[in-house]
Amino acid sequence: MLNEFAYCPRLCYIEWVQGEFLDSADTVDGRFQHRRVDAGSGGPSQDFETFHARSVYLTGAGITCRIDLLEGDGSRATPVDYKRGQAPDIPEGAYEPERVQLCAQGLVLRDNGFVCDQGVIYFVKSKKRVTIPFDEALVSRTRDLISALRAAAESSEMPPPLQHSPKCNRCSLAGICLPDEVTLLREMQADDERLVGAKEPDSDGAETEKNGPSGRIRRLLPSDDDAKPVYVVGRGNTVRKREERLEIWSQDGKVSEPKLREISMLSLYGGVEITTPAMVELMQRGVPVLHFTHGGWFQGICQGTTHKNVELRMLQFQCAADPKRSLFLARKVVAGKIKNCRTLLRRNNPEVGADSLALLAKLAEKAHEASASESLLGIEGAAAECYFSQFGGMLKEGGKDFSFLDRNRRPPKDPLNAVLSYLYGILVKDLFVTLLAVGFDPYLGFYHRPRYGRPALALDMMEEFRPLIADSVAINLFNNGEIAKGDFVKTRAGVSLSSGGKKAAVSGYERRMETEIIHPLFGYKVSYRRVLEVQSRLLARVVSGEIEQYPPFLTR
Ligand code: SF4
Repeated sequence: MLNEFAYCPRLCYIEWVQGEFLDSADTVDGRFQHRRVDAGSGGPSQDFETFHARSVYLTGAGITCRIDLLEGDGSRATPVDYKRGQAPDIPEGAYEPERVQLCAQGLVLRDNGFVCDQGVIYFVKSKKRVTIPFDEALVSRTRDLISALRAAAESSEMPPPLQHSPKCNRCSLAGICLPDEVTLLREMQADDERLVGAKEPDSDGAETEKNGPSGRIRRLLPSDDDAKPVYVVGRGNTVRKREERLEIWSQDGKVSEPKLREISMLSLYGGVEITTPAMVELMQRGVPVLHFTHGGWFQGICQGTTHKNVELRMLQFQCAADPKRSLFLARKVVAGKIKNCRTLLRRNNPEVGADSLALLAKLAEKAHEASASESLLGIEGAAAECYFSQFGGMLKEGGKDFSFLDRNRRPPKDPLNAVLSYLYGILVKDLFVTLLAVGFDPYLGFYHRPRYGRPALALDMMEEFRPLIADSVAINLFNNGEIAKGDFVKTRAGVSLSSGGKKAAVSGYERRMETEIIHPLFGYKVSYRRVLEVQSRLLARVVSGEIEQYPPFLTR
């Protein structure tokens, strides 16, 4: 912990106070290289002349430490710390975080009555022992850092990100911390004008990645996840585990066998069975399993233990209980939604009236200034009416067999509404899982009021993405002829999607989520799926007070 604090106080806070940890190649390799000392088995090492004990836990000097290897001779003790990498070619023999960590072990040993004036770092890759003397300067720096770490843990305030530090390039938590993004937003939080929209890729995908407005934003997070969601639709299907894969069986035989490490979540629609070993394996890997009715209603989630970031949930509850702060956030998401609806119409409906676009622009401005959530609801309702009155104009050649009069649901009365409802259900599920992963309680929102079983925060976060993801996918499915009349089931109650129709909808949705766009503020390429996470993390920064204004994700 002290090592991390010396490297970056924010890294230490995120890992140890908020309980967020992400593996990188370095951390995985570090654990592997550490496996012998972690095993704690005794016995003399052939590497060293003297040996006393491995993995020794000690308390003293106000801290508790674990010493990888303790060498001793009477009252004199020397801690040995294992590091996975090469010994650096620097005069001090090791970087400061490593020297501080070792010195802290020395202080604990001194507090336990040992004479300890030096330690050793063993670099596994270069098989080299580097002796670190505990001189006055190192001891003083170590004591200062221990005090600062204690104060940081007690203050409940996340330390600010490092400023354009090369350390962030190797930090496994960069995607959680968002150092450059938070710094930029803090700089521009008083200037709403710069919260411009994202550039959608051109039809030939020629949009190129460039730096953000300031040219200082590095992309420290991958543009998309390696792991992808898996959907299993329909009664009679069974999910089993076999070695490092899941097997999906229908009544006719095996359908697919995705690798476990390539699965980010598993969504089961309509009475799909899953075996206990498969469920337990997914829980252990932190992969959520989501259950839906055949019609797409979200029924529940099975996952491992709850996110450890209690602090964020407490801040979320405080924020939701404060009408002013809630309204401040709600105005942003509603204005963002209206702006994105307007953009979608402008880009896809050649006949949209100038008056409709002007009205939507005006309503977005009004949303920014709404004085109460009731008036915001009214503004949102007026914008939805205007938007959906023009929605059918986005249907082109392939969608000419269908029409759209208005938005209706529960149950939808026509095919386009059936697809919209189904896609909104998938989107809210993705946001539910993303918000849980970030540490929020998805049931407590700032705009949608709490109601039993309603994922209010996921619905809040969905507002800006409805037009960008769900509406856009629906229009494309019809216009490209990927969904046809035979993909719907009509009853007296309404219209729903057939199994084939659902598969087409899921496939169009997943394609959209993998689409990479240039982030409007940060200037790097990022998939829609990753954008959901980035926006949720930015919301967490707003709730914690680190940035003032939530920047909705806007397209141009
Ligand atoms: S990304 Fe940079 S600022 Fe953020 S935790 Fe890592 S090292 Fe610290």
